[in-house]
Amino acid sequence: MPVKTRHEVRASAIAGLGVFATRAIRKGARVVEYLGERVTHDEVDARYDDEAMASHHTMVFSIDDTWCIDAARVGSDARFINHCCAPNCEAIQYGDRIFIVAREAVPSGAELTYDYQYVVEPTMTLAQLKRVYPCRCGASSCRGTIAAPREKPKSRKRR
Ligand SMILES: [Zn+2]
Repeated sequence: MPVKTRHEVRASAIAGLGVFATRAIRKGARVVEYLGERVTHDEVDARYDDEAMASHHTMVFSIDDTWCIDAARVGSDARFINHCCAPNCEAIQYGDRIFIVAREAVPSGAELTYDYQYVVEPTMTLAQLKRVYPCRCGASSCRGTIAAPREKPKSRKRR
């Protein structure tokens, strides 16, 4: 059975192109797989100069300590999904595959987003992160950068 497409790529108010739901998507649905070339971290480091090519580098998804997916070469539409600090999707790893999954019910027409939690050098200050990896998602909870939050929330729900 062919997979029903539930999204389209078009211009986004957040940045460049974005991915939008073309029909309602239920919570927990796998929207699109993050596809690309399988490369090692060393290969990624050789390919991209982090400071100079920050926007390019964000198409690389780290799977584990050895492997990454580089969507710049043979990527799926998932590479066009923008970051948001208050996202409606999340990237979930199943084995060595990454899927963008709806973390809430997404209405038709809404832009799909997830939190990149971009991993950076721990020595970078918040001011540097905001300059090199800025976020303009517009969420009221926007932390100003697509980099992973440094501090853990003070209270965290536990079971
Ligand atoms: Zn933001």
